Amino acid sequence: MSQVERQQWDVVVVGAGGAGLRAAIEAREQGARTAVICKSLFGKAHTVMAEGGIAASMGNVNSGDNWQVHFRDTLRGGKFLNQWRMAELHAREAPDRVWELETWGALFDRTKDGRISQRNFGGHEYPRLAHVGDRTGLELIRTLQQKIVALQQEDKREFGNYEARLKVFQECTVTRVLKDESASGDGRVTGAFCYERESGRFFVIEAPSVVLATGGIGKSFKVTSNSWEYTGDGHALALLAGAPLLNMEFVQFHPTGMVWPPSVKGILVTESVRGDGGVLRNSEGKRFMFDYIPDVFKEKYAESEAEGDRWYEDPDHNRRPPELLPRDEVARAINAEVKAGRGSPHGGVFLDVSTRMPAEVIRRRLPSMYHQFKELADVDITAEAMEVGPTCHYVMGGIAVESDTAAARGVPGLFAAGEVAGGMHGSNRLGGNSLSDLLVFGRRAGLYAARHAAAPDAARSVDEAQVDTAAAEALRPFSAEGPRDGTVPENPYTLHQELQQTMNDLVGIIRREGEMAEALERLADLRQRARRAGVEGHRQFNPGWHLALDLRNMLLVSECVARAALERTESRGGHTREDHPGMNRDWRRVNLLCRLAEPADDSPTAGRPDVRAEPAAGSAAPVGGLAAAEPARGRIALTRVTTDPIRPDLLALFDKEELVKYLAEEELFE
Ligand code: FAD
Repeated sequence: MSQVERQQWDVVVVGAGGAGLRAAIEAREQGARTAVICKSLFGKAHTVMAEGGIAASMGNVNSGDNWQVHFRDTLRGGKFLNQWRMAELHAREAPDRVWELETWGALFDRTKDGRISQRNFGGHEYPRLAHVGDRTGLELIRTLQQKIVALQQEDKREFGNYEARLKVFQECTVTRVLKDESASGDGRVTGAFCYERESGRFFVIEAPSVVLATGGIGKSFKVTSNSWEYTGDGHALALLAGAPLLNMEFVQFHPTGMVWPPSVKGILVTESVRGDGGVLRNSEGKRFMFDYIPDVFKEKYAESEAEGDRWYEDPDHNRRPPELLPRDEVARAINAEVKAGRGSPHGGVFLDVSTRMPAEVIRRRLPSMYHQFKELADVDITAEAMEVGPTCHYVMGGIAVESDTAAARGVPGLFAAGEVAGGMHGSNRLGGNSLSDLLVFGRRAGLYAARHAAAPDAARSVDEAQVDTAAAEALRPFSAEGPRDGTVPENPYTLHQELQQTMNDLVGIIRREGEMAEALERLADLRQRARRAGVEGHRQFNPGWHLALDLRNMLLVSECVARAALERTESRGGHTREDHPGMNRDWRRVNLLCRLAEPADDSPTAGRPDVRAEPAAGSAAPVGGLAAAEPARGRIALTRVTTDPIRPDLLALFDKEELVKYLAEEELFE
């Protein structure tokens, strides 16, 4: 019998980035007592790093913009694999979410006539990104935090307690979502098992609604722009709770990360550099992007440098330069130039803004980039070109959710929003569409989580045995043993490095069948070894222990990525197969769902029925059954499901000639 402390709340939000904070604000405003749990310090979430801006069709800089154009751009960027209803809600609601931020105190850059300024970004037809220099994420989080403090002050006045209805548990990690597993229960959520990073103390939050807002998975890759928190926790928590993940093969490699010096490899160089006029050149000085405009985008991009340059001043009569193609296209082009021997000295290409704008404009519009290069690489971007190359940046795949409610499919009471949720961005996300996504769907997740918690039959108590099992699982690294007598346990840091190398080398930007099969073998071995990952010392701030626990999540998520990538025999968005180079229209309607293939032997609910053969609830129907029957050496099974046909009034926003490039034959017929 455990002695783990319990607290009761209505809604627990896991994550305090943009999605989590927006969800918490909404849930609290709906009257739900809301707890926010975050692994880092409050205010330090990954969202803080967002630079370029929030995409919303306010039309402040070009009045031609509206939600329909934003919707079209988003579908084109995602190569029509987006969960279209999410893309519609996102495009319609994003402007309100930005204006709302302003009423809460956000200070955006302004146009000359005093409106919120909007900047150009790849794949967006009009200037659309509301921004604060190149530190937009910081202002977003600051504003949401300020709103949370205001709500807490309200509670102090009303109840004499700041935390009466909204409490933040910072530097705490959730390791399990707990559910009602009783014979009479329907597997609904009952709460979350957590530990304090500083003290190692365990605690349980009992709550009928759990919102996962844990962000992405980039720390499974060696070269990444992502922060230390991005270990795929929410993805894994959902899988372990029985919810499927959608289209995990789609991982965005941002075209411009720093490549030199090695200690900073992968750190992001914001797309605003290109949005504001920066150009890409190879070692021969050529603006090579003009050679890489794919057929589907030919009519929309400039054919010559002169036209591309004119577009910055006169976008109505010229087409945009190809440096502003969606990220997947630019990343592949850079990769190809480097491979062809036309790269920069340190294995990237050149991104030049110094010959395009006066120094003081660069320092004003791109202050973080100026300091980043000056301090980390001793490069003055007002006088010389940067060296850049692709870096793992964002995961389009994520928890399969209902579009309107953000409810995770198959687990009542579980919700997901932000980068951890799948579907919104299809096979490739447009820049700026994440910050708007997390505001739109953060709000929706908070709203529906509060409603779920208010239902009379909402589950309220956590089973003691599950708490004991979760505690034992979390403590296992302290008693891990080597494979044989006298051998030492595995080192979690070594395992993490091997995992990152495997994903980078074998499931990276360009993928091949043999390499992905090899990756799955290596992941299976790593998973076995990770069960023997051991740590020394005690539970008080022990980073080795924290990593040992995160490894479970990274390995699960990495297997999802590798298995889905092996299955999808086409190239689309953030999934490029050298052995299947083209986009195949027949794959347009196919989504791949990942589920746990076996009851987890380390699960707090051992013996749970295998969920892998069930079709996804909601809009999907099975077409191919199990694509990869229960894998011999892994934990993930794949199911193919078809998407709902896109609603006719939304399809009518596109020209027929364009649809022919994307939709499968039978869809066009329908
Ligand atoms: P996050 O902000 O990462 O928050 C995740 C939260 O979950 C954190 O609080 C973390 O501590 C917590 N957490 C994780 N696991 C656990 C656990 N097990 N237990 C408890 N808490 C946990 N997008 C744009 O739209 N525009 C941009 O300009 C832009 N610029 C970017 C620049 C950079 C350098 C990077 C890396 C990304 C950028 N993005 C941008 C992408 C965007 O920042 C992210 O996709 C977005 O911030 C994700 O927000 P989130 O709320 O989903 O997650």
